[in-house]
Amino acid sequence: MKQTVYFVVPCYNEEDVIRETARRLYLKANELIKNDVIKEDSRVLFVNDGSKDKTWELITKLHEKTPLFSGISLSRNRGHQNALLAGLMFAKDYCDVTISMDADLQDDINVIDDFLKDYYSGSDVVYGVRSSRKKDTFFKRTTALSFYKLMSFLGAETIYNHADYRLMSKRAVEGLSEFGEVNLFLRGLVPMIGYKYSIVTYERNERYAGTSKYPFKKMFAFAMDGITSLSIKPITLITKLGFIIFFVSLIALIYSLIIKFTGKAVGGWTSLTISIWMIGGIQLLCLGVIGEYIGKIYKETKHRPRYIIAEKLITLNQEPTQKETEKE
Ligand code: UDP
Ligand code: MG
Repeated sequence: MKQTVYFVVPCYNEEDVIRETARRLYLKANELIKNDVIKEDSRVLFVNDGSKDKTWELITKLHEKTPLFSGISLSRNRGHQNALLAGLMFAKDYCDVTISMDADLQDDINVIDDFLKDYYSGSDVVYGVRSSRKKDTFFKRTTALSFYKLMSFLGAETIYNHADYRLMSKRAVEGLSEFGEVNLFLRGLVPMIGYKYSIVTYERNERYAGTSKYPFKKMFAFAMDGITSLSIKPITLITKLGFIIFFVSLIALIYSLIIKFTGKAVGGWTSLTISIWMIGGIQLLCLGVIGEYIGKIYKETKHRPRYIIAEKLITLNQEPTQKETEKE
């Protein structure tokens, strides 16, 4: 009954924190192995996302110490979502279950026990959900909250306050591999896979060390990605806005004609300038939104690889599955 679990940990410039993450995961994995919850050939799979610091060297050292630690290194920085995807796709050929988590220890690793309990009682996906955001900065808390609200308004199905801390069964990850999109927003895609899911709540901590790899600019781009890859409502809203403005312009037309024929047409500079600016602004905004979608289509049609694995460090206790051998 016990299964092989791969912990997938994307790392970008995490030299300050990776040793501690490894230490804690080592203790956790050994405890789970000892208690017969997971198999001995379970692994911690670090995904080095083109780090510029010593992250990969440290992963290599960890791997030399014990085969529990394994790693893959991407050919360059591809961003958190791609790194995570690379890890999951690599892991799925070797394991029965994956658990993805950030390298910075913000997510309480003790809830892994609950993740596995839910998995063994039949859930294919277990979402880790933050019970509160007390330890996040005010800015992060408010922007995140507005984002989830906006997502649900736009009709995209996401799990509230869930980041990428989750358990996925092998068949769920295989399901995910069928999604070929380049614009990745995993927490929006995973609910689309289906299967039975459950939620485990936990208290989110502060980053153990190092700084956030998501500055505002990246966070904004990530949010835009999330919206534009999950919802076409913004375009529908533009159409609605267009109708409204058209309607208003009809009224304005009638109004101007009345003014003209009653001979009261004077100046009108203010209303003229305001309308030019307003209409211009709205048009530009709408063009921008449509452009975002066209940009997405452009990227998708190229079918570029989402990541390239440059190096692999893995010691297997078992032969790779049939499927993997065929591929090589
Ligand atoms: N990360 C990555 N590639 C990137 C940026 C981040 O693999 O280009 C990893 C990072 O190492 C961490 C996780 O993604 O394990 C989440 O990043 P971070 O904790 O900095 O984000 P925050 O929690 O501040 O949103
Ligand atoms: Mg973090």
